[in-house]
Amino acid sequence: MDRKLLALAGPIGGRIAVSVALGLLVTVGYVLQGLFLSFALAEIFRDAPEAEIVKWIAASVAVVAARGVFVWLTEIAALKTASRTKGYLRERLLQKLIDLGPGSLMRRRTGDLQTAIVGGVEALEAYYARYLPAIFVALIGCTGVILCLASVDRVSALLLAAFVVALPIADRLWLRWRMPKSSGIFVAMGAFAAYLLDSLQGIVTLKAFDASARRRAELAEHAEVLRRESMSTLSVTLMRTGLTGLISLGGVAVVLAVDAWRVAAGELAPLALFMTLLLAREAFRPLDRLEKAFHTAWTASGAAAPIMELLAETSPVQDPPAPAVRPSTWDIAFDHVTFAYSPDEAPALRSASFSVANQGLVALVGPSGAGKSTVVGLLLRFFDPQAGSIRIGGTDIRALSRADLRGLISVVSQETYLFHGSIEENLRIAKPAATEQEIRAAARIAQIDGFISGLPQGYATPVGERGAHLSGGQRQRLAIARAVLKDAPILLLDEATSSVDPASERAIQHALSEIAKRRTTLVIAHRLSTIRNADRILVLEDGAVREQGRHDDLIRSGGLYSRLVFAQGEAA
Ligand code: ADP
Repeated sequence: MDRKLLALAGPIGGRIAVSVALGLLVTVGYVLQGLFLSFALAEIFRDAPEAEIVKWIAASVAVVAARGVFVWLTEIAALKTASRTKGYLRERLLQKLIDLGPGSLMRRRTGDLQTAIVGGVEALEAYYARYLPAIFVALIGCTGVILCLASVDRVSALLLAAFVVALPIADRLWLRWRMPKSSGIFVAMGAFAAYLLDSLQGIVTLKAFDASARRRAELAEHAEVLRRESMSTLSVTLMRTGLTGLISLGGVAVVLAVDAWRVAAGELAPLALFMTLLLAREAFRPLDRLEKAFHTAWTASGAAAPIMELLAETSPVQDPPAPAVRPSTWDIAFDHVTFAYSPDEAPALRSASFSVANQGLVALVGPSGAGKSTVVGLLLRFFDPQAGSIRIGGTDIRALSRADLRGLISVVSQETYLFHGSIEENLRIAKPAATEQEIRAAARIAQIDGFISGLPQGYATPVGERGAHLSGGQRQRLAIARAVLKDAPILLLDEATSSVDPASERAIQHALSEIAKRRTTLVIAHRLSTIRNADRILVLEDGAVREQGRHDDLIRSGGLYSRLVFAQGEAA
């Protein structure tokens, strides 16, 4: 039993107790069946009247029927415990993932997370629902059967007990000696699943670069590792079944041989022999079940590691114990902000200072890797800076609750994620209680209402798994409609106009300038032509603010900005 695994499942003591009680009733059923049959046998040997014999046989048939009911109930109890623990664990994990936020999750592979959350939880379920109860049933059940036998004949009970104790010990030694590390197979399974998911997600790229053959070969390698891990486990497990089978059958045989000899010598009544015969087998039955359940537990110990690791991870940002009230003006100030994604990486922002006036518009420009997206990530508090502070309306954003902070900000990012569902559902994410009119009005401002209304199913049109049926420009306009619906006072725009046709671009620009009015807006601009009118342009390079000012002034000073504009002009 693993204490950490126990703590993971939450309060399931009661359910396990029910499973144990039912499991013990099943064991009692087997014992009674054995006892009644041995009584029947003894009566036969005694030449008792038929009615006496039939009585015991009838009793054992009744016990078999009752046992069937208990087996069925045990199964139901196990399924209930399983679904309870699965639900509990999934909820905890999901809560954790949401709490950790994109800051931590970006560093993980989606496939690995999926294996932990789906496969891991699935593997753990059997541990709680079957293995844990089986341990108690084995402990109590075996002791009970041996005590029962001891009341009939001490010698047989002692002999049997020796084998019953030897079995788990031999089993343990064997496993310690031969069994590969439990995590091996799980790691291999995770790697295979993650690679497969990655390949599926990237299938268009793979085809386009004709790289599927290579990818397939690599996938086959992962599958081969998984096969090797499984086979090595399987061979050990099979040998183990042989070993435990040898001990349990050997135990029964030895006890019977000794008893048969004692009966022949007149030291033991035939009834005791029959009882030993039928009870000895029952003493091993709970161990048998435990052995079967063990395999699941062993997988679980490998599955639990990534889950526990995930649960132990602390969010890079925490809510303050007593959050400040939401600010009522929305100017943004970065004050000597320094931030590195990890201690051994160069900072993505170096002592960056700038401000955006309330309802002002500031554009961030700079070569790729300059730190523009990092500014957005910090403002949304996916991370906290290592030095300096970020304030909104004079309040340090670390003093606000994360929910309040994110309520203040709408984001239109380059990558618009559309969830599986209808267009309307995707818009509602921004404001679940929005009326139909509000949704349409937002879509109109985002210049996408015409397109949506023209679709056969209108707003109920489903978007593909990753919004594959919509063009880049349409997706961006949906993102803008979401921002309009959310109606937050601060707007972060990560411009993605470069992938859009000129007509869409004009529509998007129009929509954006419409919603940027009366809002504090920070634009990450990739096309420098679109930000001529910004109140201020910040030029970032290597995480530092190199220049700032209006377009004309920056051009005149002939610095980095003018070179960037010149380069884009050349390219166009
Ligand atoms: P930009 O948006 O201007 O292209 P970014 O803010 O994305 O620049 O990146 C700034 C620097 O931080 C780059 O050196 C980039 O490699 C690094 N960086 C960005 N995101 C991460 C991340 N999630 N983990 C580690 N480093 C990152």
